[in-house]
Amino acid sequence: PATLHEQDGATAAVCTRSALTAVVARLAADGLEARVGHEIEFTLFGDACNGAWSAYGLGAVLRREDFLKDLLRNAERAQLHIEQVHAEYGPEQFEISIAPATPVQAADLVILARILISRTARAHGLAASFSPIPTVGGAGNGAHQHFSLNSGGRPVFSGGGQEYGMTDKGSSALGGILSHLTEFTAVFASSPLSGVRLRPDNWSGAYVCWGLENREAALRFCAESPSNPHGANAEVKIVDPSANPYLATAAILGLSHIGIGNASPLPPEIVVNPSTLTEAERDERGVTRVPTDLREIVQKFNSSSVAKEIFGESIIEAMVSVKGVERETFSQMDEATTVERLRYTWS
Ligand code: GLU
Ligand code: MG
Repeated sequence: PATLHEQDGATAAVCTRSALTAVVARLAADGLEARVGHEIEFTLFGDACNGAWSAYGLGAVLRREDFLKDLLRNAERAQLHIEQVHAEYGPEQFEISIAPATPVQAADLVILARILISRTARAHGLAASFSPIPTVGGAGNGAHQHFSLNSGGRPVFSGGGQEYGMTDKGSSALGGILSHLTEFTAVFASSPLSGVRLRPDNWSGAYVCWGLENREAALRFCAESPSNPHGANAEVKIVDPSANPYLATAAILGLSHIGIGNASPLPPEIVVNPSTLTEAERDERGVTRVPTDLREIVQKFNSSSVAKEIFGESIIEAMVSVKGVERETFSQMDEATTVERLRYTWS
């Protein structure tokens, strides 16, 4: 993790870490303070999967006991606080949850964690993939970001009079994110494989809506409860590991800030899996799919005045041109080849 400078020492206009630092400062000027906790999903490759996979099971963890113990030891030495390790849904897919931290520090820890996971895997003759789609037809890897906000030292997602104890500010923060989510899909999930992951019934939050503990909602609310020891928080589920974590957090916090400033309304909660609703019912509730077409995603980002407000021109220009080349390169390639080519791109 590093801040990018020009040769004369000035901060580079395309520095994503500085863009996040600036967003954090704008929040602080209005008395808002954020904490962010990252989930890191990855898939191991390298030796044959020995026997049936027990998703979320202890058997799966024990089979990779040596690797996981080493990873935990390395993390401790690197002062990376891992709060949870578990076997995920897909074969050889694991997840670690990193303890919440201040936004820039939390994004720095994502970089550190990926280096540690990749190096530890290599030491065990394995390779870790952080691809949104590591195998054709297999489970996707997400990079969900949880965040909480304090306003004047008090949490905005609990202790208030809105749904599940949200305060007016908490509710508006989520309203701000939801109302601009499609403009920022370029930042959250726009690799050539991101759209494959963002299909319904894949727990990737493929629908633009929010709901308590709703895994099919792009925005999942986690209320204050004994099972949330750090307090209430919101999880942006559509983020995948192809996203730059600094930019993704800058978008989440920047939109929350704008939502609070505009007192953005929060649409009604969706409590079910939206794919079980009819199209008419989804229309009626204003639930749409997160865009998956790269041309549409980039066009929405490029013409977003809110994106300009949060990131400035240089970052948008750089992203739009990189995404254009990616689309050109991979649009001719079939899915299986793309999956192979990009398997270790984010490792
Ligand atoms: N692997 C899923 C994804 O692509 C998430 C599974 C979960 O809910 O943790 O986001
Ligand atoms: Mg998970």
